[in-house]
Amino acid sequence: MDKQEPPNAVPMSERKRIALVAHDHRKADLLGWARYNRDELSNHELFGTGTTGAMIASDLDLDVERFKSGPLGGDQQIGARISEGGIDLVIFFWDPMQPQPHDVDVKALLRIATVYNIPMATNRSSADFMISSPLMTQRYERTLVDYSQRIRG
Ligand code: PGA
Repeated sequence: MDKQEPPNAVPMSERKRIALVAHDHRKADLLGWARYNRDELSNHELFGTGTTGAMIASDLDLDVERFKSGPLGGDQQIGARISEGGIDLVIFFWDPMQPQPHDVDVKALLRIATVYNIPMATNRSSADFMISSPLMTQRYERTLVDYSQRIRG
């Protein structure tokens, strides 16, 4: 008998849909990381907030689907895309030393990625561990926590 997929499993293909976001003081670090991992990143589908996405696309000469700049709603667009099942991984180098005009959007993105059990790297070593995982090039069933009992109607 075939093994049944749990109803709350979301399949990820070998080609992952990766969102890249970095706050201004963290952009150089993300760019260095992305340059180092260009070959691996080129096997996946890339997304980014406006400025981060443009920087990665032009520096690495890779296609990056760009959302609005973070302060203008880009983080929220990524969060919405996650809730629709359109993003598999998030690399989000947020700045722990500087308040952002869109702090609430940053928090919302961290939250929605957690709700949907999205692998999320918020610093370079986490991103290194993530990109070198064998799961990057395999299919993977991402399970969702059933929060329905905890939502008040
Ligand atoms: P940016 O947005 O890539 O347009 O700079 C990132 C952010 O501030 O969340």
